[in-house]
Amino acid sequence: MVKETGFYDTLGVKPNATQSELKKAYRKLALKYHPDKNPVEGEKFKQISQAYEVLSDAKKRDLYDRGGEKAIKEGGTGGGGNFASPMDIFDFVFGGGSRMHRERKGKNIVHQISVTLEDLYNGATRKLAVQKNTLCDKCEGRGSRKGAAQMCMSCHGTGMQVRVHQLLPGMVQQVSTVCHNCQGQGQRISHKDRCKACVGRKILRQKKILEVHIDKGMRDGQKIVFHGEGDQEPGLEPGDIIIILDQQEHPRFTRKGEDLIMSMELQLVEALCGFQKPVQTLDNRTLLITSHPGELIKPGDTKCVLNEGMPMHRRPFEKGRLIIHFSVVFPQANFLPKHKLKDLERYLPVKKEAEQLESMDDDLYIYADLEECDFENRKRHSRQYYYVDEDDYASAGGVQCQTS
Ligand SMILES: [Zn+2]
Ligand SMILES: [Zn+2]
Repeated sequence: MVKETGFYDTLGVKPNATQSELKKAYRKLALKYHPDKNPVEGEKFKQISQAYEVLSDAKKRDLYDRGGEKAIKEGGTGGGGNFASPMDIFDFVFGGGSRMHRERKGKNIVHQISVTLEDLYNGATRKLAVQKNTLCDKCEGRGSRKGAAQMCMSCHGTGMQVRVHQLLPGMVQQVSTVCHNCQGQGQRISHKDRCKACVGRKILRQKKILEVHIDKGMRDGQKIVFHGEGDQEPGLEPGDIIIILDQQEHPRFTRKGEDLIMSMELQLVEALCGFQKPVQTLDNRTLLITSHPGELIKPGDTKCVLNEGMPMHRRPFEKGRLIIHFSVVFPQANFLPKHKLKDLERYLPVKKEAEQLESMDDDLYIYADLEECDFENRKRHSRQYYYVDEDDYASAGGVQCQTS
């Protein structure tokens, strides 16, 4: 039982969420609230990041589950409860590279696309329109006529201004800020020389259509990277476009690694006497799942069909298994008239202890009939037979939740 659920609520998951569910939830929310897309939701972005940072780490998650946010803030491991920067967490999850790297490269553009299990089985192609910064081709990213730019005198072309700030006598601090005369460009361009196409900004916002190839066997959460297709900025290597696949739930199959898992309901007669049942595959073939007469399926049995699971990525001719969990539906009460039950009994394996019962003296046992024992009934009957109060029942259930 967890002490509080705040971090889980922030990510919109249950406290028993698996690591992959946590990651999926983080991905979805982080993309939605990323400052690039949603500049007013910086605080929300930070909360999502902190919740994920704690819950994705087994030790921190355990600490949180036992002691709540207070335990994390106090830092049980002596770390003082310092959180990493939300951008670093984002880059870590989305593979945007380290901070240092980012400074020499234009920004990465991250997109999530929703795919079906059929797409991942058969492969698919998606067209995606992305907005990105490109160097202005009129001025080749100079922002002006050739040779018209002059060095900014305020920062001597560095784009940065360093100010010395006295904190205490004898103690100074150097603060560097972006030069505001040139906005960090290091140069100035007079109005008349500005490139008309980009108004001196050197970059243009452009729409680009990307063709995303989803290969057979790709997985939920897999990244497809278009190197160098991200934002261009003057003097920097262009960033990447990163596409993340987000698989939707499938009504019939769940995927586990290369295996597909489904459940199948059998009538009792099918379980006992054999059956043929069609199953539509993800590429629209029909498998006739067959159990021959004489084979027998018990409730809860698991069987598999080889080579009907997911294709392996880059080896699409090799496939995993189709795993089927069986349940068996029993007939309704009184499905046979009583006299015919005797006939049915003849075909079934002999009852155990049947003999002994008949030889026993009637006085030696008490007849006990079976009743339904769902909760509603239990409450009603309990008062009658066992003198247990309804309130006792309710509190007996509640007490356990409070022990940690
Ligand atoms: Zn231009
Ligand atoms: Zn300057």
